[in-house]
Amino acid sequence: MGHDHDHHHAHSSADAEIRAKALESLLIEKGLISTDVIDEIVRQYEEDIGPMNGARVVARAWSDPSYKKWLLEDGTAAIADMGYSGKEGAKMVVLENSPSTHNVVVCTLCSCYPWPVLGLPPNWYKSYAYRSRVVREPRKVLSEFGLELDESVEVRVWDSNSEIRYLVLPERPEGTDGLSADELTKLVSRDSMIGVAKL
Ligand code: FE
Repeated sequence: MGHDHDHHHAHSSADAEIRAKALESLLIEKGLISTDVIDEIVRQYEEDIGPMNGARVVARAWSDPSYKKWLLEDGTAAIADMGYSGKEGAKMVVLENSPSTHNVVVCTLCSCYPWPVLGLPPNWYKSYAYRSRVVREPRKVLSEFGLELDESVEVRVWDSNSEIRYLVLPERPEGTDGLSADELTKLVSRDSMIGVAKL
């Protein structure tokens, strides 16, 4: 697996992290904000606000075959059509799961993640254990997430980098034929768009 990594972004994101920590300390010291509030904001960006964008993309693809085709051919343009683009998501590639193929995303060298569609990466995504193990033993790691895949399913692991960010298009759950795009959006989990869960 080729991983042509540009480490400028890792450096600038470390700087940003230091600045954010300094700002956080100052706000807490001045009594303007509590650590609980900060934790809650971060949680929302990891779990709700961020992944909601990706969920809207997935729901539209499930509802509209021509959009799905466009999304798989040119993820960047089709996602930008929903209003999601920019930093840490300038070039997007969408990977379609099927009964025979399961895609899962990692960044082996740092924590590259598609911010415009998924928000901030969860801590486990940034962990050395996930980054190193999901490449070597993807089935075992997925089973630890509660996802047992049949031996017949091909597992593909995609290594993100500063150029390309991936979004997994999970399979549409059965029994959802009558649902609107809004209703479908609520079914799409963050983890299913990273590829560590099915729906
Ligand atoms: Fe990276």
